[in-house]
Amino acid sequence: MTISIPKTGRSADDILAELERRKASDTKWREGKVFSLVYHAGEEHERLMQKAHAIYASANLLNPMAFSSLKQMESDIIEMTGRLFHCAGAVGTVTSGGTESILCAVAAYRDRARRERPWVLRPELVVPTTLHPAFDKAAHYFGVRLKKVPIGEDLRANVRAMAKAISRRTIGLCASAPQYPHGVVDPIAELGELAQEHGLPLHVDACVGGFVLPWIERLGRSVPKWDFRVPGVTSISADLHKFGYAAKGASTLTWRSIDHMKHQIFVATDFPGGIYASPTMIGTRPGGPIAAAWAALQSLGEDGYLALAKQSVDAADGLRAGIAKIPGLALLGHSHSTIVSYEAKQLNVYAIADRMETRGWTMDRQHKPASIHLTVTANHLKIVDAYVADLRASVEEVRSNPALAKSGSAPMYGMAAKMPIRMFVKAQVRKVFAEMYSKGQP
Ligand SMILES: *Cc1c(COP(=O)(O)O)cnc(C)c1O
Repeated sequence: MTISIPKTGRSADDILAELERRKASDTKWREGKVFSLVYHAGEEHERLMQKAHAIYASANLLNPMAFSSLKQMESDIIEMTGRLFHCAGAVGTVTSGGTESILCAVAAYRDRARRERPWVLRPELVVPTTLHPAFDKAAHYFGVRLKKVPIGEDLRANVRAMAKAISRRTIGLCASAPQYPHGVVDPIAELGELAQEHGLPLHVDACVGGFVLPWIERLGRSVPKWDFRVPGVTSISADLHKFGYAAKGASTLTWRSIDHMKHQIFVATDFPGGIYASPTMIGTRPGGPIAAAWAALQSLGEDGYLALAKQSVDAADGLRAGIAKIPGLALLGHSHSTIVSYEAKQLNVYAIADRMETRGWTMDRQHKPASIHLTVTANHLKIVDAYVADLRASVEEVRSNPALAKSGSAPMYGMAAKMPIRMFVKAQVRKVFAEMYSKGQP
């Protein structure tokens, strides 16, 4: 099928109807059969997000003087977030997503090091292997090396090994609250001490946890300290469009003080179009996601977030209890977040995932170790029993038919995970993406 810009524009009704039709082929996230991509807090909340977004759809925070109401909303969001993370004086920016928050943090730490320690020519961040690939992307873009330190048996960052990895090139430490694969909160308190001992900054990636761990803690669960209460934590990334239940395109990067944050601000002075200053990666900054995120925080309030967190925790507990009872499966990680992850003993977990997909579930496959990931939200409380029943049936299918491990996606995932030459994997994956973006491909 080919498409060009039509000679004469089509009617709005026609176009909206087509968008509804097109959307129908996408994954059915409302039913709760998808994890980690969509955070849904109900239809009413959804409508508020759409309306708030629409009011600011054309607004542009590139010029905070021209759109002072947006700048105020950004400040409000950072103030609310800072208080949630126990630092009322926190400063920061709203960004388009976790990746942008992380890009900004890495760029700022690199530039800070360039100014304060210009003799460091090959700057390094010391990080656990479970840190999100957005940091690999940032390191790749900005010429920083990630010194990846293997995690401990408990899947948490290994503080002693990270201490050993610190050298004269180290410009900072990073860790997660929680890390995405298994939902484990890294030992931030110990890392904060380590950072202070060495006079290094510590970034905490709370992209997935930032807007749920504080509520889980208030529900009375034990959550290791990870926020600005930990001395030594200098910055935190936390996504509004995850457990903040905001519309897509909103995250936060908060700093303990402007002293660190100032390195985030980019200024170009020679452009004939005028002096250009920008604190984030993107130029034009869409107003819609900022207004929607502000609306989400104000509309849900503490009560709303606590209720959503309770539902997420109950769903995660239910899934863990159900999975633990299925012979052949084993849970990974702790229960202090609402991320659930499991592996299969003896059986091929990817074959199990294939069987789950025939039952309509969208499965997140992981490796090292081979496992399945679920980011469990309030929208998943309704699917707990159905998921566990389908998983039990899928496991039995794979157990009684070992050939299933040799068909479907299982061999490819199994091989990609075991392939010793990572460059080859990279080339293969790049080829798949290039094909996806080539002309003439479906
Ligand atoms: C989602 C996530 C990110 C990246 O956020 P995006 O919004 O997808 O760019 C980074 N770190 C962690 C731990 C995450 O879960």
